[in-house]
Amino acid sequence: MSVTGFERDCCKDAILINTRSVRTKDCIHAFLTRDGLEHVMEYRARKNGTNAFRLYSEGVIYLHRRENDMYCSLKDVRALKVRRNLLDVDRFLDMMPFVKLVAFFASKGPDGFFDLTSECFDLLDEGADKIRVLANFAERIFVGLGFASDFESCPSCDRHFESDERLGYNIGMSSPVCRECADEFPVLLPGMRRYLSFVRNMGLREAVGVEIAQESIERVCAYQRRRLEHFGVKI
Ligand SMILES: [Zn+2]
Repeated sequence: MSVTGFERDCCKDAILINTRSVRTKDCIHAFLTRDGLEHVMEYRARKNGTNAFRLYSEGVIYLHRRENDMYCSLKDVRALKVRRNLLDVDRFLDMMPFVKLVAFFASKGPDGFFDLTSECFDLLDEGADKIRVLANFAERIFVGLGFASDFESCPSCDRHFESDERLGYNIGMSSPVCRECADEFPVLLPGMRRYLSFVRNMGLREAVGVEIAQESIERVCAYQRRRLEHFGVKI
């Protein structure tokens, strides 16, 4: 990083999440960086063609900021990973839940969120099942925020769960709990709990590779969507 007078240059690891047009000649890009979401102006991009890498791709962005400017401007990029398959028109709707999650959680700073998102987009680009990816991506976001679930005992009353016990959900704790401590019940059936417990210490890629019946993973995914909704993001 160099500082010259009121002007400043820097470079950041970045994944392009969204681009929109502004005025007649310019674009604003939303990049996920290790510091959160960064909105970057690219002047004359609509007129001269963009220099940025493609949507969902990843690399290094070189930025310039003048004092009093609301946005950094994009000076240059170096693409490191191009995720072409995610650009298929057919994939547009599939990507929306992931884009919403990234936009929502980027500013909340879950641990390791940039690398988690990068791995998530890699898996989707490689054609991994989107339901399995979404269920496990969401679980790891909660863990990154400090809401790791306890699948052995109730975090509210400390009672040990029976192996075939159905669990409820405590909204304030963002956590599965026993029936007595639950705001919603039943939420987590024994099979869903066994799956989440089995994959809990795995990386995203390894967890997504674990075989599970489609019906079961859809149930787990519905559970995650509900948790996310309680957290304030509807996908
Ligand atoms: Zn309890």
